[in-house]
Amino acid sequence: MREFEYCRARSVDEVLRWLRDGTDSKLLAGGQSLLGAMKLGLMAPERLIDLQGLAELRGCAATAGGELQLGAMQSHASLARHALLRGLVPGLARLASHIADEQVRSQGTLGGSLANADPAACWPAGMLALGATLVTDRRELPADEFFTGFFSTALEPDELLCSVRLRRPRRFAYAKFEQAASRFALVGVALAQFDDGAVRVALTGGAHGVQRLPAFEQALGQRFAAEALQGLKVDAALMSSDVHGEADYRAHLAGVLAARVVQDALTLEST
Ligand SMILES: Cc1cc2nc3c(=O)[nH]c(=O)nc-3n(C[C@H](O)[C@H](O)[C@H](O)COP(=O)(O)OP(=O)(O)OC[C@H]3O[C@@H](n4cnc5c(N)ncnc54)[C@H](O)[C@@H]3O)c2cc1C
Repeated sequence: MREFEYCRARSVDEVLRWLRDGTDSKLLAGGQSLLGAMKLGLMAPERLIDLQGLAELRGCAATAGGELQLGAMQSHASLARHALLRGLVPGLARLASHIADEQVRSQGTLGGSLANADPAACWPAGMLALGATLVTDRRELPADEFFTGFFSTALEPDELLCSVRLRRPRRFAYAKFEQAASRFALVGVALAQFDDGAVRVALTGGAHGVQRLPAFEQALGQRFAAEALQGLKVDAALMSSDVHGEADYRAHLAGVLAARVVQDALTLEST
C-alpha cells in the first residue's frame, strides 16, 4: 500500500474543505471496501478523510413527515439490531443482519455501501426497491437517479452522502443467493409494496449494478402473489458470467428469488 495522509474530520465543513483543496482525497467510512482496494493497489489516494467522528452522520429516527432517516455512518450491525428499524421495516434490518460476517458488519456502513455501489451489494437493492431518497451535503437524490451502474453513482468526487430517507412500506423483503465465501449476493432480489398497492422490485448481482425489474413490478402491482410471476423471466443479458456462475444460471436464480421474496414479504409484514 502506498503512503497516505490520514485526517480525522471534526465537521462536515472540514470534510468538504479537504475534499476541495486539490489533494487526491478519499472518504473513509468503515474501510471494508476501500482499504481492501488500496491493499490490492486498485486505489492509491494521497489522503484518507475519516468520517468516524461525525455524530451528524449517525442516527436512525422517524422524521416529522413520518419517514425514516438513517445516517450514512450507521454500521450494518447497528441497523440490524436497531429497535425502530426492526419494528418499522423488519425486512431491512434483516437485510443488514445477513451482510458478510460479524466483523465486517460492525465496521461497514450504510453510506459506504451505497457510495461504493458494488454490483453484488445488498443495501443498494434494498434502497432502490424502497424508492429511498439519498441526502448529500448539497442535494437530495432519488435512488433511481443515485445508482448509475457498475460501481458507479451520481455522487460528485467532492460530495458527501449524509443520510437516507425512506417511507415505510406496507411490506418489504430481500433474499439473496450468497457467495459462500463472502456472503455477497451472487444474485439478490429486494421487493417493496406500498400502501397504494405500487410495487418496486430491485435486482442485485447483475452485470450493470443494481437495477429494477419493471415487468415483475407490474405483475405484482396487479396481484401480490408469487403465482403472478409465473411465465416471467429475468433477461440473461442483465447478468454477468464469471467463475461463480453463468448469466443464464444467475437469471434463473433471480426468477426463483423473486417468487421467494414475495412469499417472505407476505409472512414478514411490518408490525
Ligand atoms: C469479506 C467481506 C464480505 C462482504 N460481504 C458483503 C455482503 O454480503 N453484502 C454487502 O452488501 N456487502 C458486503 N461487503 C461490503 C461491506 O458491506 C462494506 O462495508 C461496504 O461495501 C463498504 O462500506 P464501508 O463503510 O466499509 O465503506 P468504505 O470501504 O470506507 O468506503 C467505500 C467507498 O465509499 C466511499 N464513501 C464512504 N462513505 C461515504 C459517504 N458518506 N459519502 C460519500 N462517499 C463515501 C469511500 O470513499 C469509498 O470509495 C463485504 C465486504 C467484505 C470485506
